[in-house]
Amino acid sequence: MSFESLGLAPALLRALADNEYTVPTPIQAQAIPLVLSGHDVLGGAQTGTGKTAAFALPVLNRLSKDTPPAGPRKPRALVLVPTRELAVQVADSFKTYGRHLRLNVTTLFGGVGMQPQIEQLRRGVDVLVACPGRLIDHLDRGSVKLDGIEVLVLDEADRMLDMGFLPAIKRIVNRVPKQRQTLLFSATFEPRIKALAL
Ligand code: AMP
Repeated sequence: MSFESLGLAPALLRALADNEYTVPTPIQAQAIPLVLSGHDVLGGAQTGTGKTAAFALPVLNRLSKDTPPAGPRKPRALVLVPTRELAVQVADSFKTYGRHLRLNVTTLFGGVGMQPQIEQLRRGVDVLVACPGRLIDHLDRGSVKLDGIEVLVLDEADRMLDMGFLPAIKRIVNRVPKQRQTLLFSATFEPRIKALAL
């Protein structure tokens, strides 16, 4: 199994070669074709399995295909993550794999000022990686619009629920178009994760 055989765009294959990734991990081999074909996906995977690339590569592939609509760019992909550390890590992965594409990746997390994040949002964003609480703050202030979201990713969904983010996640999901692709990754699939997925 090679990345070429998964159907990824040449610009992404080049970035993978730059990083000396040759063989997809099992979660990548299973998830990438499904995400590329537009399915919603529930992925059971822990950190260290390559799960970030399993969603980042096909999401970037999708965004690379169409030119962004005219005017200030609203985010088209939203990745919700439980912690600031994971937000930085996931955004770095999007930047690494998307290095040959012209897409903006921005993080939103708490514990830092709102203003620099507001300015970044104003400059235009393609991929938004956010912690639920801070994203709600931006939604309440009107500094971010989620009506252009085409793909929603819930990463480490079990940890987000452990941290009490369910009400925030529900509010965010209500602000994202119903017509979209949804990907949910979790280390466990307990009933509450299944309920969230449904
Ligand atoms: P993750 O599970 O997404 O946190 O990824 C774990 C680590 O594996 C990260 O450092 C990735 O850069 C690396 N990685 C992910 N996919 C591959 C791959 N197919 N080949 C080599 N390294 C990979």
